[in-house]
Amino acid sequence: MQIHATAAASALVYPISQPPSADRIVSVAPGVYWLRLPLPFALDHINIWLLRDGAAWTLVDCGYGDAATTTLWQEHAAGWLRGLPLRRIVVTHCHPDHVGQASGLSANSDAAIWMSQGEYLSAHAMHDQTAGFGVAPLLDLFAAHGMAEEELDGLRARGNRYRHGVPELPRAYHRLAEGDRVAIDGHSWRVIVGLGHSPEHVALHSEELGILISGDMLLPKITTNVSVWPTEPEADPLGRFLHSIQRFADLPANTLVLPSHGLPFRGIHSRLQQLEAHHEARLAELLGAIRQTPQDAASLRRTLFPRELDLQQLFFAMGETIAHLNHLVALQRIQRHDRGDRVRFTRV
Ligand SMILES: [Zn+2]
Repeated sequence: MQIHATAAASALVYPISQPPSADRIVSVAPGVYWLRLPLPFALDHINIWLLRDGAAWTLVDCGYGDAATTTLWQEHAAGWLRGLPLRRIVVTHCHPDHVGQASGLSANSDAAIWMSQGEYLSAHAMHDQTAGFGVAPLLDLFAAHGMAEEELDGLRARGNRYRHGVPELPRAYHRLAEGDRVAIDGHSWRVIVGLGHSPEHVALHSEELGILISGDMLLPKITTNVSVWPTEPEADPLGRFLHSIQRFADLPANTLVLPSHGLPFRGIHSRLQQLEAHHEARLAELLGAIRQTPQDAASLRRTLFPRELDLQQLFFAMGETIAHLNHLVALQRIQRHDRGDRVRFTRV
C-alpha cells in the first residue's frame, strides 16, 4: 500500500494505456496476461500477472481475500482459464491484496504456492498475531512515538485488519530465494529479492522476454510504502528499500515493468532516479523540521503528511515517518532518544 504520488513521471512510457476491466484479461507479451482485480481501499486495484505454463497457468499474486474477489475468481475459472489447471501461484509478498486468495485458489486447484520464507512466515505471524506482529505491539510503538490517544483508540477498534483480507493461509509452500530461476513455459524467470516494503519481497525477471514483474517494489506513479514495525523498532527499512531497488538498475533500459499497481511501463532507469530524488527531497524536508529540542514522530509526521488523514492513511503515515526518521538516524544526521515508552529525535 502506498500513500502519495510522485511527480514528474513523464519519462515513463505506458505501452497499454487502458487497464482491462475485472471481467477480462489482456495479453501484454507472448504467454503473459494481465488481470486487474478490485480492492476495497483508496488504492482500488491490484494487477495479477498470468503466465501460460504449458497446458496450465502460473499466477503471480492473487488478490484480496474477500467474498467479491472469490466470486470474480470463480467466474474467471469458468471463462478465460479455459479449463486449464492452475499449476502454481507465485506470491510476491505477504500483504493481503497479494496473498489473500492464495489458500482458497490453491485448495480448489491443487496449485502449489511459491513464495519466500520471509513472506510465508510473516504472513502467518500477522494472521495469528504472534511473534510481535499483533495490533497491541503496533499501538505500543505508535504510542511511544507520540500518537494521540484518540487515534490509538481508532486503530485499536479496527482490530486485526490482516485477517479481513487474508482469511486463511497455506500450510505448505515451495520456497523461493534470491537468484532462484523458475522455468515457466520454456522461459527462465530469475528471483530478485527486495527489502524494505515487506520482509523478503520476490520480483521476477525474464531476460528473454525483457520483462520484470516488480510486485510492489517498483510502481510507476505512487511510492511504495516503507514502514517501521514493532518487531524491529530501530530498523532502517528505507535504507534497505533504496539499496534493494538498486538491483533493478542493472536491468536493460527497455525492460517492460509489470507492477502490482498502475500501468505496465518502460523507463525503469528513469523511475529509479525519480524514486531516489523523491526520498532525498522528503528526507531533506524532514531534516529541515528537526530542531535541537526533542520532537516525536507524531508531530514530525505533519511535515511529511500535512493534510488530514483517515485512520488507514494515518497508520501508513506513522510507519513511513518513523522509517524516514530511522533512516536519518542511520545516516547520523539526527539522534534518537529512547526513554523506554517515549522516543524522540533531535538534530545531531
Ligand atoms: Zn505490498
